[in-house]
Amino acid sequence: MPARTPSSPTTGLPGGEFGLIEWIRQRTGSHPLVDVGIGDDAAMLSWPTTHPALVAVDMLVENVHFDLSRAKPEQVGHKALAVNLSDIAAMGGQPLAAVVSVALPRGSQHDLGQRLHDGLITLAEQTGVALAGGDTTATDGPLVVSVTVIGTPLEGGPILRSGARPGDRLLVTGYLGNSRERHHLDFTPRLAESVGLVESGGLHAMIDISDGLAADLHHVLTASGVGARLNASDIPTREPDTPVRDGRTPLAHAVADGEDFELLAAVDPRVAEELVAAPPCGTPLSDIGEIVPGSGVELVMPNGHIVPLPPLGYEHRID
Ligand code: ADP
Ligand code: MG
Repeated sequence: MPARTPSSPTTGLPGGEFGLIEWIRQRTGSHPLVDVGIGDDAAMLSWPTTHPALVAVDMLVENVHFDLSRAKPEQVGHKALAVNLSDIAAMGGQPLAAVVSVALPRGSQHDLGQRLHDGLITLAEQTGVALAGGDTTATDGPLVVSVTVIGTPLEGGPILRSGARPGDRLLVTGYLGNSRERHHLDFTPRLAESVGLVESGGLHAMIDISDGLAADLHHVLTASGVGARLNASDIPTREPDTPVRDGRTPLAHAVADGEDFELLAAVDPRVAEELVAAPPCGTPLSDIGEIVPGSGVELVMPNGHIVPLPPLGYEHRID
Protein backbone atom coordinates (compact mmCIF):
# COMPACT_ATOMS: atom_id res chain seq x y z
CA MET A 1 0.00 0.00 0.00
CA PRO A 2 1.50 3.38 -0.91
CA ALA A 3 2.39 5.66 1.95
CA ARG A 4 -0.22 8.26 2.72
CA THR A 5 0.66 11.57 1.07
CA PRO A 6 2.10 13.75 3.81
CA SER A 7 0.11 16.79 2.78
CA SER A 8 -3.12 17.04 0.83
CA PRO A 9 -3.26 19.53 -2.04
CA THR A 10 -5.36 21.80 0.11
CA THR A 11 -3.36 21.99 3.33
CA GLY A 12 -2.16 25.47 4.04
CA LEU A 13 -5.50 27.06 3.19
CA PRO A 14 -6.55 29.19 6.14
CA GLY A 15 -9.70 27.65 7.59
CA GLY A 16 -9.17 24.66 5.33
CA GLU A 17 -10.77 23.86 2.03
CA PHE A 18 -14.01 22.68 3.59
CA GLY A 19 -14.37 25.73 5.81
CA LEU A 20 -14.07 27.95 2.75
CA ILE A 21 -16.48 25.86 0.66
CA GLU A 22 -19.04 25.94 3.47
CA TRP A 23 -18.64 29.72 3.68
CA ILE A 24 -19.14 30.00 -0.10
CA ARG A 25 -22.19 27.71 0.06
CA GLN A 26 -23.84 29.87 2.68
CA ARG A 27 -22.88 33.11 0.94
CA THR A 28 -24.32 31.81 -2.34
CA GLY A 29 -27.80 30.80 -1.18
CA SER A 30 -30.36 29.24 -3.47
CA HIS A 31 -31.18 30.00 -7.09
CA PRO A 32 -34.25 28.90 -9.06
CA LEU A 33 -32.17 27.25 -11.78
CA VAL A 34 -30.06 25.18 -9.39
CA ASP A 35 -31.60 21.88 -8.31
CA VAL A 36 -28.33 20.57 -6.87
CA GLY A 37 -25.66 23.14 -6.09
CA ILE A 38 -22.54 23.41 -3.97
CA GLY A 39 -22.10 20.32 -1.80
CA ASP A 40 -22.49 17.35 -4.12
CA ASP A 41 -20.22 15.80 -6.73
CA ALA A 42 -21.75 17.73 -9.62
CA ALA A 43 -24.32 20.48 -9.96
CA MET A 44 -27.69 19.91 -11.59
CA LEU A 45 -29.46 22.78 -13.33
CA SER A 46 -33.03 23.10 -14.57
CA TRP A 47 -32.29 24.35 -18.07
CA PRO A 48 -34.99 26.96 -18.71
CA THR A 49 -34.99 26.83 -22.50
CA THR A 50 -34.78 24.46 -25.43
CA HIS A 51 -32.21 26.78 -27.02
CA PRO A 52 -28.62 25.52 -27.14
CA ALA A 53 -26.04 26.39 -24.49
CA LEU A 54 -23.29 29.00 -24.82
CA VAL A 55 -20.14 28.20 -22.83
CA ALA A 56 -17.28 30.60 -22.04
CA VAL A 57 -14.21 30.14 -19.84
CA ASP A 58 -11.43 32.55 -18.88
CA MET A 59 -8.53 32.19 -16.47
CA LEU A 60 -6.87 34.98 -14.48
CA VAL A 61 -3.35 34.48 -13.11
CA GLU A 62 -1.78 36.69 -10.44
CA ASN A 63 1.01 38.90 -11.81
CA VAL A 64 -0.15 38.20 -15.36
CA HIS A 65 -3.70 39.60 -15.27
CA PHE A 66 -3.73 41.40 -11.92
CA ASP A 67 -1.43 42.41 -9.11
CA LEU A 68 -2.64 41.78 -5.56
CA SER A 69 -0.74 44.80 -4.28
CA ARG A 70 -3.03 46.98 -6.44
CA ALA A 71 -6.19 44.91 -6.81
CA LYS A 72 -8.48 43.99 -3.94
CA PRO A 73 -9.43 40.30 -3.81
CA GLU A 74 -13.07 41.29 -4.34
CA GLN A 75 -12.06 43.02 -7.57
CA VAL A 76 -10.24 39.90 -8.77
CA GLY A 77 -13.36 37.81 -8.13
CA HIS A 78 -15.53 40.40 -9.86
CA LYS A 79 -13.25 40.49 -12.87
CA ALA A 80 -12.97 36.70 -13.12
CA LEU A 81 -16.73 36.47 -13.63
CA ALA A 82 -17.11 39.76 -15.52
CA VAL A 83 -14.74 38.80 -18.36
CA ASN A 84 -16.87 35.72 -19.01
CA LEU A 85 -20.13 37.69 -18.85
CA SER A 86 -18.60 40.06 -21.39
CA ASP A 87 -17.96 37.11 -23.73
CA ILE A 88 -21.55 35.89 -23.34
CA ALA A 89 -22.81 39.45 -23.98
CA ALA A 90 -20.67 39.61 -27.13
CA MET A 91 -22.39 36.44 -28.40
CA GLY A 92 -25.82 37.99 -27.93
CA GLY A 93 -26.44 35.67 -25.02
CA GLN A 94 -27.91 35.59 -21.54
CA PRO A 95 -25.65 34.09 -18.86
CA LEU A 96 -27.34 31.61 -16.54
CA ALA A 97 -24.82 29.80 -14.36
CA ALA A 98 -21.13 29.76 -13.48
CA VAL A 99 -18.59 27.43 -11.91
CA VAL A 100 -15.26 28.63 -10.52
CA SER A 101 -11.89 26.98 -9.92
CA VAL A 102 -9.42 28.66 -7.59
CA ALA A 103 -5.82 27.87 -6.66
CA LEU A 104 -5.12 29.84 -3.48
CA PRO A 105 -1.49 30.45 -2.48
CA ARG A 106 -0.58 28.54 0.67
CA GLY A 107 -0.22 30.88 3.60
CA SER A 108 -2.06 33.69 1.84
CA GLN A 109 -4.02 36.15 3.88
CA HIS A 110 -6.71 34.53 5.92
CA ASP A 111 -9.66 35.96 4.06
CA LEU A 112 -8.32 35.98 0.48
CA GLY A 113 -10.59 33.13 -0.67
CA GLN A 114 -13.66 34.59 1.00
CA ARG A 115 -13.08 38.08 -0.32
CA LEU A 116 -12.46 36.80 -3.85
CA HIS A 117 -15.69 34.80 -3.81
CA ASP A 118 -17.55 37.71 -2.25
CA GLY A 119 -16.71 39.89 -5.27
CA LEU A 120 -17.64 37.12 -7.65
CA ILE A 121 -20.92 36.27 -5.92
CA THR A 122 -21.93 39.95 -5.69
CA LEU A 123 -21.68 40.27 -9.49
CA ALA A 124 -23.45 36.92 -9.94
CA GLU A 125 -26.33 38.21 -7.82
CA GLN A 126 -26.46 41.50 -9.72
CA THR A 127 -26.69 39.66 -13.05
CA GLY A 128 -28.96 36.81 -11.93
CA VAL A 129 -26.26 34.21 -12.58
CA ALA A 130 -26.23 31.08 -10.40
CA LEU A 131 -22.91 30.02 -8.84
CA ALA A 132 -23.46 26.30 -9.20
CA GLY A 133 -20.14 24.88 -8.02
CA GLY A 134 -16.41 24.96 -8.28
CA ASP A 135 -13.11 23.53 -7.18
CA THR A 136 -10.67 24.78 -4.55
CA THR A 137 -7.03 23.92 -4.09
CA ALA A 138 -3.90 25.32 -2.48
CA THR A 139 -0.79 26.14 -4.48
CA ASP A 140 2.83 27.12 -3.99
CA GLY A 141 2.46 29.29 -7.08
CA PRO A 142 0.44 32.43 -7.77
CA LEU A 143 -3.29 32.90 -7.25
CA VAL A 144 -5.20 31.45 -10.20
CA VAL A 145 -8.93 31.77 -10.76
CA SER A 146 -10.79 30.29 -13.69
CA VAL A 147 -14.51 30.82 -14.23
CA THR A 148 -16.76 28.98 -16.68
CA VAL A 149 -20.12 30.52 -17.57
CA ILE A 150 -22.95 28.80 -19.37
CA GLY A 151 -25.80 30.70 -20.92
CA THR A 152 -28.18 30.71 -23.82
CA PRO A 153 -28.52 32.85 -26.94
CA LEU A 154 -31.11 35.62 -26.74
CA GLU A 155 -34.00 35.50 -29.20
CA GLY A 156 -32.25 36.68 -32.37
CA GLY A 157 -28.85 35.37 -31.20
CA PRO A 158 -26.23 34.08 -31.21
CA ILE A 159 -24.30 36.91 -32.85
CA LEU A 160 -21.02 35.69 -34.34
CA ARG A 161 -17.89 37.54 -35.42
CA SER A 162 -18.43 36.35 -38.97
CA GLY A 163 -21.62 38.19 -39.95
CA ALA A 164 -20.36 41.70 -40.86
CA ARG A 165 -21.27 42.89 -44.40
CA PRO A 166 -20.14 45.86 -46.50
CA GLY A 167 -22.33 48.86 -45.70
CA ASP A 168 -22.78 47.90 -42.03
CA ARG A 169 -22.03 50.65 -39.54
CA LEU A 170 -19.58 49.94 -36.73
CA LEU A 171 -21.01 50.86 -33.34
CA VAL A 172 -19.19 50.84 -30.03
CA THR A 173 -20.63 51.11 -26.51
CA GLY A 174 -19.28 53.54 -23.90
CA TYR A 175 -15.76 54.99 -24.06
CA LEU A 176 -12.47 53.44 -25.10
CA GLY A 177 -9.00 53.74 -23.59
CA ASN A 178 -10.12 53.97 -19.98
CA SER A 179 -8.99 50.68 -18.74
CA ARG A 180 -5.31 50.85 -17.86
CA GLU A 181 -5.64 53.57 -15.24
CA ARG A 182 -8.83 52.33 -13.72
CA HIS A 183 -11.83 50.31 -14.65
CA HIS A 184 -10.33 47.06 -15.97
CA LEU A 185 -10.97 45.62 -12.50
CA ASP A 186 -14.39 47.14 -11.94
CA PHE A 187 -16.04 47.19 -15.32
CA THR A 188 -19.70 46.38 -15.83
CA PRO A 189 -20.17 43.70 -18.49
CA ARG A 190 -22.38 45.05 -21.28
CA LEU A 191 -25.21 42.54 -20.87
CA ALA A 192 -28.09 45.04 -21.03
CA GLU A 193 -26.50 46.76 -24.02
CA SER A 194 -26.22 43.40 -25.77
CA VAL A 195 -29.93 42.78 -25.24
CA GLY A 196 -30.75 46.18 -26.75
CA LEU A 197 -28.52 45.59 -29.75
CA VAL A 198 -29.91 42.10 -30.41
CA GLU A 199 -33.49 43.32 -30.04
CA SER A 200 -32.85 46.03 -32.64
CA GLY A 201 -32.96 43.28 -35.24
CA GLY A 202 -30.14 44.83 -37.28
CA LEU A 203 -27.13 43.29 -35.55
CA HIS A 204 -24.88 41.29 -37.89
CA ALA A 205 -21.64 40.69 -35.93
CA MET A 206 -20.29 41.49 -32.47
CA ILE A 207 -17.20 41.14 -30.29
CA ASP A 208 -16.18 42.47 -26.89
CA ILE A 209 -13.11 44.68 -26.88
CA SER A 210 -10.65 42.82 -24.68
CA ASP A 211 -7.46 43.08 -26.75
CA GLY A 212 -8.04 46.64 -27.99
CA LEU A 213 -10.24 48.21 -30.68
CA ALA A 214 -7.75 47.65 -33.51
CA ALA A 215 -7.00 44.04 -32.60
CA ASP A 216 -10.59 43.04 -31.96
CA LEU A 217 -11.93 44.81 -35.05
CA HIS A 218 -9.44 42.78 -37.09
CA HIS A 219 -10.87 39.59 -35.55
CA VAL A 220 -14.33 40.55 -36.85
CA LEU A 221 -12.98 41.54 -40.27
CA THR A 222 -10.99 38.32 -40.68
CA ALA A 223 -13.94 36.18 -39.61
CA SER A 224 -16.31 38.07 -41.93
CA GLY A 225 -13.96 38.44 -44.92
CA VAL A 226 -14.38 42.23 -45.11
CA GLY A 227 -12.50 45.48 -44.36
CA ALA A 228 -13.38 48.65 -42.43
CA ARG A 229 -12.93 52.41 -42.55
CA LEU A 230 -12.88 54.17 -39.17
CA ASN A 231 -13.25 57.89 -38.50
CA ALA A 232 -10.78 58.90 -35.80
CA SER A 233 -12.86 61.86 -34.67
CA ASP A 234 -15.86 59.60 -33.98
CA ILE A 235 -13.99 57.19 -31.72
CA PRO A 236 -15.24 57.80 -28.15
CA THR A 237 -12.05 58.41 -26.20
CA ARG A 238 -11.54 58.39 -22.47
CA GLU A 239 -13.52 60.77 -20.31
CA PRO A 240 -11.75 64.14 -20.19
CA ASP A 241 -11.10 63.89 -16.45
CA THR A 242 -8.82 60.88 -16.89
CA PRO A 243 -5.22 62.07 -17.04
CA VAL A 244 -3.05 60.94 -19.91
CA ARG A 245 0.09 59.98 -18.03
CA ASP A 246 2.39 58.65 -20.69
CA GLY A 247 2.22 61.32 -23.37
CA ARG A 248 0.17 59.17 -25.72
CA THR A 249 -2.97 60.72 -27.08
CA PRO A 250 -6.45 59.63 -26.03
CA LEU A 251 -6.91 58.31 -29.59
CA ALA A 252 -3.81 56.11 -29.30
CA HIS A 253 -5.11 54.69 -26.04
CA ALA A 254 -8.61 54.17 -27.44
CA VAL A 255 -7.33 52.25 -30.45
CA ALA A 256 -4.59 50.17 -28.87
CA ASP A 257 -5.44 49.63 -25.18
CA GLY A 258 -6.90 46.31 -24.13
CA GLU A 259 -9.42 45.53 -21.43
CA ASP A 260 -12.05 48.12 -22.26
CA PHE A 261 -14.70 45.36 -22.34
CA GLU A 262 -17.00 47.49 -24.47
CA LEU A 263 -18.99 45.92 -27.32
CA LEU A 264 -18.10 46.48 -30.97
CA ALA A 265 -20.98 45.70 -33.32
CA ALA A 266 -21.56 45.64 -37.07
CA VAL A 267 -25.11 46.86 -37.63
CA ASP A 268 -27.42 47.40 -40.59
CA PRO A 269 -27.05 51.14 -41.45
CA ARG A 270 -30.72 52.09 -41.00
CA VAL A 271 -30.96 50.35 -37.64
CA ALA A 272 -27.61 51.83 -36.57
CA GLU A 273 -28.89 55.37 -37.08
CA GLU A 274 -31.88 54.70 -34.82
CA LEU A 275 -29.71 53.03 -32.18
CA VAL A 276 -27.24 55.93 -32.02
CA ALA A 277 -30.06 58.48 -31.85
CA ALA A 278 -31.75 56.60 -29.00
CA PRO A 279 -29.39 54.12 -27.29
CA PRO A 280 -31.52 51.33 -25.80
CA CYS A 281 -30.14 51.49 -22.27
CA GLY A 282 -28.54 54.82 -21.53
CA THR A 283 -24.97 53.79 -22.36
CA PRO A 284 -23.76 55.94 -25.27
CA LEU A 285 -23.43 54.23 -28.63
CA SER A 286 -20.99 55.74 -31.13
CA ASP A 287 -20.90 55.17 -34.87
CA ILE A 288 -17.16 54.96 -35.55
CA GLY A 289 -17.11 53.86 -39.18
CA GLU A 290 -18.27 51.32 -41.71
CA ILE A 291 -17.62 47.88 -43.08
CA VAL A 292 -16.23 47.96 -46.62
CA PRO A 293 -15.37 45.26 -49.16
CA GLY A 294 -11.80 43.97 -49.05
CA SER A 295 -9.64 43.58 -45.97
CA GLY A 296 -7.79 45.60 -43.33
CA VAL A 297 -8.62 48.89 -41.61
CA GLU A 298 -8.21 52.44 -42.88
CA LEU A 299 -8.29 55.16 -40.26
CA VAL A 300 -9.42 58.59 -41.43
CA MET A 301 -7.56 61.09 -39.25
CA PRO A 302 -9.13 64.41 -38.16
CA ASN A 303 -6.97 66.22 -40.76
CA GLY A 304 -8.34 63.99 -43.52
CA HIS A 305 -5.21 61.87 -43.92
CA ILE A 306 -5.90 58.17 -44.25
CA VAL A 307 -3.57 55.75 -42.44
CA PRO A 308 -3.68 51.97 -42.31
CA LEU A 309 -4.46 50.65 -38.84
CA PRO A 310 -2.67 47.37 -38.09
CA PRO A 311 -4.16 44.78 -35.73
CA LEU A 312 -2.20 46.23 -32.84
CA GLY A 313 -2.31 50.00 -32.93
CA TYR A 314 0.97 51.77 -32.38
CA GLU A 315 0.95 55.33 -31.20
CA HIS A 316 3.43 56.61 -33.78
CA ARG A 317 1.17 55.48 -36.58
CA ILE A 318 -1.89 57.35 -35.45
CA ASP A 319 -0.78 60.31 -33.37
P1 ADP B 1 -15.10 16.77 -5.24
O1 ADP B 1 -13.92 16.23 -4.52
O2 ADP B 1 -16.26 15.80 -5.40
O3 ADP B 1 -14.76 17.49 -6.50
P2 ADP B 1 -15.02 19.20 -3.79
O4 ADP B 1 -14.58 19.06 -2.38
O5 ADP B 1 -14.04 19.66 -4.80
O6 ADP B 1 -15.72 17.85 -4.24
O7 ADP B 1 -16.24 20.20 -3.85
C1 ADP B 1 -17.33 20.02 -2.98
C2 ADP B 1 -18.47 20.89 -3.44
O8 ADP B 1 -18.09 22.25 -3.31
C3 ADP B 1 -18.84 20.70 -4.90
O9 ADP B 1 -20.24 20.83 -5.01
C4 ADP B 1 -18.15 21.83 -5.60
O10 ADP B 1 -18.86 22.22 -6.77
C5 ADP B 1 -18.18 22.91 -4.53
N1 ADP B 1 -17.04 23.85 -4.60
C6 ADP B 1 -15.74 23.59 -4.38
N2 ADP B 1 -14.98 24.68 -4.50
C7 ADP B 1 -15.83 25.69 -4.82
C8 ADP B 1 -15.68 27.07 -5.07
N3 ADP B 1 -14.48 27.66 -5.06
N4 ADP B 1 -16.78 27.77 -5.39
C9 ADP B 1 -17.99 27.20 -5.44
N5 ADP B 1 -18.21 25.91 -5.20
C10 ADP B 1 -17.15 25.15 -4.86
MG1 MG C 1 -13.41 19.15 -6.65
